[in-house]
Amino acid sequence: MSIDAKAHPPLTLAGARRAIDAAIEPIAATERVALGEGLDRVLATDLVSSVAVPAHDNAAMDGYALRGDPASPRRLRITGLARAGAPWRGPVAADECVRIFTGAVMPADCDAVVAQEDVVVDGDHVVLAAPIRIGINRRLAGEDLSPGAVVLPAGRRLGPSDLGLAASVGEDGFTVFRRLRVAVFSTGDELRDIGQALDAGSIRDSNRYTLIAMLARLGIDVVDLGIVADDPDTLEATLLRACGEADAIVTSGGVSAGGADYTREVMHRLGGVSFWKLAVKPGRPMAFGRITSRGRSALLFGLPGNPVAVMVVFYALVREALQKLMGATVEPMSSITARCDVAIAKAAGRTEFVRGVATRQDGIWRVRPTGDQGSGILRSMSEANCLIVLAHDRGPVAAGETIEAWPFQGLA
Ligand code: AMP
Ligand code: MG
Repeated sequence: MSIDAKAHPPLTLAGARRAIDAAIEPIAATERVALGEGLDRVLATDLVSSVAVPAHDNAAMDGYALRGDPASPRRLRITGLARAGAPWRGPVAADECVRIFTGAVMPADCDAVVAQEDVVVDGDHVVLAAPIRIGINRRLAGEDLSPGAVVLPAGRRLGPSDLGLAASVGEDGFTVFRRLRVAVFSTGDELRDIGQALDAGSIRDSNRYTLIAMLARLGIDVVDLGIVADDPDTLEATLLRACGEADAIVTSGGVSAGGADYTREVMHRLGGVSFWKLAVKPGRPMAFGRITSRGRSALLFGLPGNPVAVMVVFYALVREALQKLMGATVEPMSSITARCDVAIAKAAGRTEFVRGVATRQDGIWRVRPTGDQGSGILRSMSEANCLIVLAHDRGPVAAGETIEAWPFQGLA
């Protein structure tokens, strides 16, 4: 897998996705975690219910449990009381009923519940306006889940409702894939970390903080390897260390065509890494491949240096790849269609991502680009609440056209 950026036309986003897909081997190691520790973990095996939910036939309404029948008497004596957690265990004759509350177990002789607002209470009797059909307002045992049913499928990234669902079938924990470990570093002689003096020409390393946060949102363990100078020996040592400690490596900077050639040389020597010129704006240069050392290997995603390009390429390519690596079912970026308020220039032949602000009026999404779209202007990501996605083949956008956008919902 070697694509020389100089000799080949730019690689389409779809082509890059396919190449990354082909290289992914999801992690296999699993571990057991307690129920309360399951949030954001990826389920490794189907969670199968060993019980029926609900466990018993029960009342769906507050009212009176009775024997439903078109010919049943209309005047019934109230013979008992059934509350959630306190069933009525006595017999119920055809001309009797039991006061019952939602969720209470149905008395053995009863098969329907008449809602309390549909009867007239007369002392210790209720009077029905009409016959009650069998099964009315009765929830059957196993209606939600029968024993043996798959409650949650393998690959599921566990959310709050999943933890509650597992609890509802009496599970005490989950079998999950071990957490993915991803090493992150920034490359560039000009980069300074927080707390370091900014000498002439130097800039703050912002990418590492953005990347670590985006990885954390995916539920990934991050190994922070700091800033790496533009120097072959340091780069090699850091890649080897990352390979020993992580399943994947995400770097930023140093992969542009005019960048230091030693990056290519080092990355080639340590494995098989391709340098791509992506037909994506922002985010042209990118390296992808596998670093191998001492029987261990790690996927390498060498992202561009520009802060906005880092985020765009992460969401357009890396995020789904990491989800697959984690053993998770891919959750694509959520997508809306929106009316674009203004015209947007666009060249056919590359996928373009434009930072946008989407608003919803009368149930219709409208979107407009944030101001300046320079790929170094990280503020534009913070100001935006979506990425407008302009497909590879299309040309300019006219004002009023309907276009696609990916809402951030906390992703940026
Ligand atoms: P490069 O691809 O290394 O040539 O970087 C492209 C641009 O992104 C340059 O202007 C870099 O200074 C900038 N850049 C690279 N890495 C970072 C980083 N970690 N944080 C902020 N800006 C960066
Ligand atoms: Mg650089």
